[in-house]
Amino acid sequence: MERVVIVRYSELGLKSEQVRRRMERALIEHLRRAVPGVRVSRERGRVYLHTSSEEAAERASRVFGVASASPAEVVSSEFEELLRAGEEFAVPRVGRRSFALRVRRVGTHGYRSTDVAKELGRRVVERTGARVELKNPEVEIFVEVRGEKAYLYDRVIRGVGGLPYGTQGRVLALVSGGIDSPVAAWLMMRRGAEVSVLFMNPQPLVDERTPRRAQQAVRVLASWAPEPLRMYTAPYGEVLIRLLKAQDYRMGCVLCKRMMYRVAERIAEREGALAVVTGESLGQVASQTLHNLAAISASVRIPVLRPLIAMDKEEIIALARRIGTYEVSVQPANCCLGPPPKPVTRASVERAVRAEQGLEVERLADELAEAAELVEVSGEEA
Ligand code: ATP
Ligand code: MG
Repeated sequence: MERVVIVRYSELGLKSEQVRRRMERALIEHLRRAVPGVRVSRERGRVYLHTSSEEAAERASRVFGVASASPAEVVSSEFEELLRAGEEFAVPRVGRRSFALRVRRVGTHGYRSTDVAKELGRRVVERTGARVELKNPEVEIFVEVRGEKAYLYDRVIRGVGGLPYGTQGRVLALVSGGIDSPVAAWLMMRRGAEVSVLFMNPQPLVDERTPRRAQQAVRVLASWAPEPLRMYTAPYGEVLIRLLKAQDYRMGCVLCKRMMYRVAERIAEREGALAVVTGESLGQVASQTLHNLAAISASVRIPVLRPLIAMDKEEIIALARRIGTYEVSVQPANCCLGPPPKPVTRASVERAVRAEQGLEVERLADELAEAAELVEVSGEEA
């Protein structure tokens, strides 16, 4: 018996022919890497993995751009043969539970889809005594007739969605290893952006748990990508200590973030990344008021993307769990010294620039970017 995994993608169908072809090629390449050694074929709007492995369907559903995946049996679309095969497929799966047949047909055949539904339904009822229930069935059996073949399946595994990885250009994600920033990076990955990562290492203000946690988070992110992620680590400790000693100490968090953005802008340029990504969410902490975000953004020219800006913490946590970074991110780690007493919540660019006077922030940013170390992180499970 021939078995396949049907892999469907949605949004790609809407693109121009040329864009679609490029995205399909990327998607197929990523599916090949997700299920190595499996033959892959394509048809308009879908891809087939030629394997009977259900795990292949689960793996495929994690590939960015995939809308859904179904392990299926391939049978003949000749009416009698289809009914026979459909019966053998449906009877053990329906058992005595209520069921619905969902039949679709593409191509020219001597019958209509309703003919299949009626006759197959009659036979399944006769063999099982089960009840047909179209609205809320306990079991759904899908029959897809396409040309000379028909596909039988009962599972539609929801895919992760998005666009194929790397089809939208590169971004540089600032990832701390906390709950938010890995989610932000992942959302950009899902949307087709290729991601390089920058971690600003505050050692000796923190111990080794903090960089380790960042590494682990990036490893989980890499498990979603078809290739290792490029991760930069900048030795931020000494510079951060200087910034936190600034006269206007209540501006500490703002100055810290401005320095991070500056280093990110430099690394982005080196990586050919067109934007910086952060995990900021409006009003979540003192440094993420609209005033402060504006004052922080003004330190760089490169666009700053904040995919979490309008999300609630609970939504971010739910995503982190689904991505697999949550467990890593809640591990104990310390994050610098925490905010200064009474941190500024209504910063202005002028106040930030004044606070930075004499600190040679641009030169320090050059040095940090220069000193940043690059490793390629591949995607083992964390
Ligand atoms: P997260 O949960 O991502 O750590 P947060 O809610 O703790 O974020 P902040 O500490 O204000 O928020 O940081 C805001 C953003 O700045 C983070 O989402 C991340 O993108 C970036 N960032 C913070 N610390 C670091 C770091 N050590 N290295 C790289 N990026 C960082
Ligand atoms: Mg944090």
